[in-house]
Amino acid sequence: MAGRVFVFGSLNMDIVASVPLLPVLGETVASTTMTFLPGGKGGNQAVAAARAGAPTSMIGRVGEDAFGRTLRRFLADNGVDVARVESVGDRPTGTALVTVDTAGDNTVVISSGANDTLAPAAVDVSGLTPEDVVVAQFESPVSAVSTFLAAAGSRGATTVLNAAPARDLPPDLESSVDILVVNENELATLSGRQVDSESPTSAILSAITAVPGSRAVATIATVGSRGVVGRLGDLDYALPARPVRAVDTAGAGDCFVGVLAARIAAGDDLGVGIRHANTAASLCVQRPGGAPAMPTWDEIERSA
Ligand code: ADP
Repeated sequence: MAGRVFVFGSLNMDIVASVPLLPVLGETVASTTMTFLPGGKGGNQAVAAARAGAPTSMIGRVGEDAFGRTLRRFLADNGVDVARVESVGDRPTGTALVTVDTAGDNTVVISSGANDTLAPAAVDVSGLTPEDVVVAQFESPVSAVSTFLAAAGSRGATTVLNAAPARDLPPDLESSVDILVVNENELATLSGRQVDSESPTSAILSAITAVPGSRAVATIATVGSRGVVGRLGDLDYALPARPVRAVDTAGAGDCFVGVLAARIAAGDDLGVGIRHANTAASLCVQRPGGAPAMPTWDEIERSA
């Protein structure tokens, strides 16, 4: 039987104002457009997994406010089970205040709000099976991520950590992660090596092996338009990105992570899962937005 995907993580409303020029200190500028986009790495990854066909549950927290209700509805409309999304009365829903100018430069202010209260205590992992896949990121309290992944791992579920935003791997997480997914910035932080999007594949592979303490079975680095470089067990791995015209790379990493989780839950072996996730992310970057740009399984399969 196919497994399920459980995403433990952040839910944010992204409030995006387009401005001709970013305001300087003390300046007020008028926006040309203003949009409210459901986001947060957790929410994006859950939508990606659900659209890719996996039975997907979100474990997260929102405030008792309009943004919280909108996020919950957005997830549900995209096929995500929201029974484990709790509303808390003492914090607002997480928000990201984004200003972006015509050159594409931006400023972002994150207010984690209810995400900061996410705790694993409320999550019953007793029903997890070895076919299930759990996913977490670092936009939630790190101690909660550690506890959740360790508990899920003890039930035999496959654990995926997207170590984003960049930070060191806490020691109590080192043995709970089966699959570690990072971009080049996160890899640089974790490994202490200077890697960026221009680094040769050999430097990325060597940074992967230098991540201290990690006992992940696989470490996968997404490197934007270059695709994926990784270490799967004892094997080096590289897969070029599909040559597409990218219009908006927001959420590409989240798409990759969500679809990878969905495909592992569907029974793909890791190499096949990565290939589908790479295809899915190449579809995501051709459309505007984060969560709304996530492709369906039909689209992924047709592009394979
Ligand atoms: P993040 O959003 O975490 O920085 P990346 O930029 O590394 O993630 O992108 C994640 C994945 O999205 C890549 O590994 C690749 O599969 C796909 N991708 C990103 N940018 C492009 C692009 N310009 N063309 C094709 N695929 C892309």
